Amino acid sequence: MPEGHTIHRLAVRHRALFAGDKVLVDSPQGRFAEGAALLSGTVLDGTEAYGKHLLHHYASGVSLHVHLGLYGKFADGDGEPPDPVGQVRLRMSTDRHWLELRGPTACEVLTPPEVEALRHRLGADPLRPGADPEPAYGRIRRSPTPLAALLLDQTIVAGTGLIFVTEALFRAGTHPRRSGQRLTGAGWAALWDDLGELMRAAVVTGRIDTVRPQHLPEAMGRPPRVDRHGGEVYVYRRAGQPCHVCGTAICQGELVGRNLYWCPTCQPR
Ligand SMILES: [Zn+2]
Repeated sequence: MPEGHTIHRLAVRHRALFAGDKVLVDSPQGRFAEGAALLSGTVLDGTEAYGKHLLHHYASGVSLHVHLGLYGKFADGDGEPPDPVGQVRLRMSTDRHWLELRGPTACEVLTPPEVEALRHRLGADPLRPGADPEPAYGRIRRSPTPLAALLLDQTIVAGTGLIFVTEALFRAGTHPRRSGQRLTGAGWAALWDDLGELMRAAVVTGRIDTVRPQHLPEAMGRPPRVDRHGGEVYVYRRAGQPCHVCGTAICQGELVGRNLYWCPTCQPR
């Protein structure tokens, strides 16, 4: 599933392509026909990402809400939109640009109170300026749940996925199964800052790189990582490979149906 940086990049791109313009919207597949009719012919005011949720705000007062989920994908281009191929849930166009959305988990029109309710149920997004990490810590420090699960809970922290969470915990030297109750205030402040730093860098580059300069392939004289996720990381999907810091084999385990990765030496229980 795309992590928050991907959604923030989409918000920026869609704003550049469409903000301020009257857009034509339809649903070639038909499943979003009613919603498309509400939006078509109205002006797209702006866009916003909150965690893994994308919002397009319209001058008419309503908003388009998209959650890509596991399979959702956007495509866009210049000029006339191509003939729809496959299951195109939403198609948007102006004279200059087009956009297509396939396979999302959510694609719906929300009223302002519904947008407010969505924001309300999401935790702090490290990529949103002014995000307040204190309510998140209030929940983390009272919970016996493993930190990795707490940080993946979108009602506590929004936008974080498995890569950012496992990598930030490695960088903090913290075992992913350590309980929330054991995280100090200073520990949370550092973790929050680091998540923000890693995620902001990913917004710029479009990939997740988490290794410090001294652990880059060039610095270590090792081959670069080969993985469809791209990016240089410490532990994510590196089970059995040597830790870039201490050489210990990276461990893999399961937590609420998700794979976890950690270095048993650098991240003691
Ligand atoms: Zn290590």
